[in-house]
Amino acid sequence: MSMPRLATKVGLVVGIANKRSLSWAIARAASLEGATVSVTYQNERLEENVRELSAGFANSLVEPCDVTSDEQMDRLFALIDEKYNGLDFLVHGAAFAEREDLERPFVETSRRGFSTALEVSAYSLVALARRAVPLMEKSGGGSIVTLTYLGAERVFPNYNVMGVAKAALESSVRYLASELGPKKIRVNAISAGPIKTLAAAGISGFSSILQTYRDRAPLRRTVEASEVADAALFLLGDDSRAITGEVMMVDGGFHAMGI
Ligand code: NAP
Repeated sequence: MSMPRLATKVGLVVGIANKRSLSWAIARAASLEGATVSVTYQNERLEENVRELSAGFANSLVEPCDVTSDEQMDRLFALIDEKYNGLDFLVHGAAFAEREDLERPFVETSRRGFSTALEVSAYSLVALARRAVPLMEKSGGGSIVTLTYLGAERVFPNYNVMGVAKAALESSVRYLASELGPKKIRVNAISAGPIKTLAAAGISGFSSILQTYRDRAPLRRTVEASEVADAALFLLGDDSRAITGEVMMVDGGFHAMGI
């Protein structure tokens, strides 16, 4: 019998809304691979969901974390430090844009909508990484994984300001990877194909994006949350120890196509 792939690892997963959340699929898979996985919820509205989902996790924390709150993030990492005295991995799956910015023309994006999308969806990775660093140093290194979409590089209808936020996120992955590499902390992104989640439901015309993947992706299908989770397990664990600063496509090959 081989060892579970994440045995002895302590992780934190931010960005679970419900059972469809990609972050949940990753948290669950990591726990099944032997990791101690702490999870967070954005506000009381989601607390019960997240508590129920993670009820079977052993020795884990379930805490609030709105990534726009420095106080909540400080508190969260202090609790992790107290309980585990270190951290091996961080999964970042928080993203948000105002609904109207995912419906009206991109050129109409407001100053506030632009900064909200960038703050919640991109800056939050930097803010969380900064707090994770001292804990990961105590653990002798770590792995940080975020979730992005091809809309960072190419135009998809209505993805709009979220595409700009994902471009900032992917660039942040590279800058963080460069700075944190000497501390043995790796930073990577998974660029997932479209999957019907709460966040995806906010994008008008999402179903037609799904159909385009079924029609044109080399694998002629969309991807599942469990497949994103499998890729995340690889990036979180030691099998990917030489990989950092990478945006890994988990999209049935769609990104490879011209038309
Ligand atoms: P999801 O279940 O809705 O997850 C997004 C999470 O971000 C939610 O838990 C949301 O909480 C949270 N969030 C929003 N604002 C936050 C804040 N201020 N502080 C903390 N958390 C906050 O949808 P998902 O599709 O799994 O999204 C996870 C990640 O995957 C996102 O980065 C998304 O862009 C990315 N992604 C998704 C797809 C896809 O097709 N689904 C494809 C590629 C990449 P609330 O519900 O309270 O807002």
